[in-house]
Amino acid sequence: MKPTYYLKELKELSKRYARAQQVPLHKARDTVAEVLGFSHWNDVTKAHRAGWTPTKEHVSAVESLLVEALPGDEAGGPRSGSFIGDSTLETDVKHGTIDGHEYSISASMGDVHMHGTGWHLHVPEAPNREPRLEIAKQIKHEAPVYEAAFQQEALAIAINRAEQVRAGIASDWPRRSTKPDNDDLVRHPIHGAESNEWFCLHCDASITGAQIAKSFWHCPRCDASPLDVFESPWWLGEQDVQLEPIADNELNGRPELVVDVLDTRLKLELDAEKVTLLIRSALVDDASNVSERLGALFADIFVHDDNDVCITFDEDLWPEHKEPVSALAVAAQLGVNVDLELCLRELPIAWPGLGEHTKSTVEYTEMMLNAYASQRADKDVE
Ligand SMILES: [Zn+2]
Repeated sequence: MKPTYYLKELKELSKRYARAQQVPLHKARDTVAEVLGFSHWNDVTKAHRAGWTPTKEHVSAVESLLVEALPGDEAGGPRSGSFIGDSTLETDVKHGTIDGHEYSISASMGDVHMHGTGWHLHVPEAPNREPRLEIAKQIKHEAPVYEAAFQQEALAIAINRAEQVRAGIASDWPRRSTKPDNDDLVRHPIHGAESNEWFCLHCDASITGAQIAKSFWHCPRCDASPLDVFESPWWLGEQDVQLEPIADNELNGRPELVVDVLDTRLKLELDAEKVTLLIRSALVDDASNVSERLGALFADIFVHDDNDVCITFDEDLWPEHKEPVSALAVAAQLGVNVDLELCLRELPIAWPGLGEHTKSTVEYTEMMLNAYASQRADKDVE
């Protein structure tokens, strides 16, 4: 197993922990860092850059942290957390074929993703949300993924996997989260509150215990996640808002497959950010010493709505008659016009001319530091 793989796992687990505990991601990462013996997540990444790598044991320790964060089931503690390990991470990518065409299938954060050549099928964790098949427009029109029979077979495979994922998650939940008692009381799978009426933070729906359990704690109307379903509509305060009960016939289960045919080829859309980046890079090409390079980096590049560019150089960093040949060539390739201007600004570092004598920033920095040091207060003013 590659060391970076474990770091990726730790990141995924932090995300899941943040979700379960309703804390910001950076806090969750710091908690994970503590389990690993660091004070902050920053220290983990620093150590990683310096060669430290998490072990499988580290990952297990963090998995246990997550298991503790989730509610225990009613028979005692939660199971060993093995399901979390399997479901949050894309460790279990499986491969198969439909009519001789290869696909891969994996689960990530409760969602199922199936990929084949030129298509991607996504079945979301929320049971009332539609599965979506995205087909790349640029693939051959005779591709089998356009055929309804192929699509249905792929969908059946993905739905089957989604059911397994769902069963796995439910097995980590208290029994009362998926099975209402005689008074329709159910327990929230994450923060443990109990009630027979639930409310959606997003659409203000009022949901019965049986309904929320059936829809796997996602809002049956707007598919909000379990974290946004509460036992009281506290966000409404004193407002007199009509809470809309959900009718049982709104819980129709998984909707039909939605097929999107999209041109997924990457297209370059020129905007001010991209134009600026390319022009500045070309200006750096044009710089022949440190001073000019600073001039290139410090130049003001203004991009108009039509992408035409105005470059304002600092007189002290860019020679007055020097033509930025590469920048003009790049502009010509992009089909935009360029205006050049010079101005005199206050620069962040004194003696800008020092950079004219070298191409090396290291050498320049030394000269610059010496120049600053040579005018200490204890020296005579010349
Ligand atoms: Zn809702």
